[in-house]
Amino acid sequence: VEKLLDVKNLSTYFYTEEGVVYALDDVSFSLEKGETLGIVGESGSGKSVTALSIMRLVQSPPGRIVDGKILLEGDNILLKSKEEMQDIRGNKMAMIFQEPMTALNPVLTIGYQIMESLLIHQNVNKNEARVKAIDMLRKVGIPNPEKRIDDYPHQLSGGMRQRAMIAIALCCNPSLLICDEPTTALDVTIQAQILDLINRLKEDMDTAVIMITHDLGVVAQISDNVLVMYAGKEMEYGSVREVFTDPKHPYTEALLASIPTVENKQDRLHVIDGMVPSLSNLPQGCLFHTRCGKCMEICRVEKPRITYLNGNRQVRCWLYEERGGGNSAG
Ligand code: SF4
Ligand code: MG
Repeated sequence: VEKLLDVKNLSTYFYTEEGVVYALDDVSFSLEKGETLGIVGESGSGKSVTALSIMRLVQSPPGRIVDGKILLEGDNILLKSKEEMQDIRGNKMAMIFQEPMTALNPVLTIGYQIMESLLIHQNVNKNEARVKAIDMLRKVGIPNPEKRIDDYPHQLSGGMRQRAMIAIALCCNPSLLICDEPTTALDVTIQAQILDLINRLKEDMDTAVIMITHDLGVVAQISDNVLVMYAGKEMEYGSVREVFTDPKHPYTEALLASIPTVENKQDRLHVIDGMVPSLSNLPQGCLFHTRCGKCMEICRVEKPRITYLNGNRQVRCWLYEERGGGNSAG
């Protein structure tokens, strides 16, 4: 079967006065129709740049996609014109952000913003668009949608604004929804409701989802597969079940150890010592070697490559390469 999204060796750099920032370097992953992929990592790991690259929304200059392919239903969107991208965005893929206030237009009603998207992408008139917009607001759980449709973003609570953002994103029924930390700015109860909503709508509308988060709990709750990123590189990829029960990469192990559980919640949270390296001054060898408890001689000097383990597991670590003493059968 053809993949919905196939990202191959994607690299996005930023050319700044201080030097080149290697925000994203050689990242590959794919998504089936209707699948949810969690992309997880600390801040500065390249998660948001991945999302913006797929949407072709990287600010340029200083940013530039320097290498790779992004195939959407087999079609490389890096070769599309601006006009073609405008049609693809909203219609085939859409994105929601951490703070909907920055993505929503403050001087336009939420109804206008949904209708605008419908009028651009779908063959509907104003009345039909309004009916659809009300229906969409109902779908995302905004009470009294016939009235709230004429509200401005500031008249809604944080949670309701995120629901409105989701309504705008999904109104044209895209096959891919990218969510960049959609619940980080919300309190825990609202966070759970929004995740539930995304999960339910994704099932109803058969939408694939990329869920970007620093929270492994969110990944566990909603994803089929997970991509673990660190300093702009992919460290590990696999099904949520496999990665959570049997992490291969030392960074993934460390991330999992930092999740508070019933047993260790009394203790101080285990955090990984050290810091994510500067993306304009990356260390030699494995990017994680400055923080890795299993670091070997070779890790300091040579970059590990992606090793493919049984099935579609991927890991970038010398422990699994023959020259690092590993056995790629994993
Ligand atoms: Fe640790 Fe070496 Fe693996 Fe990097 S390559 S994660 S330093 S063991
Ligand atoms: Mg981010």
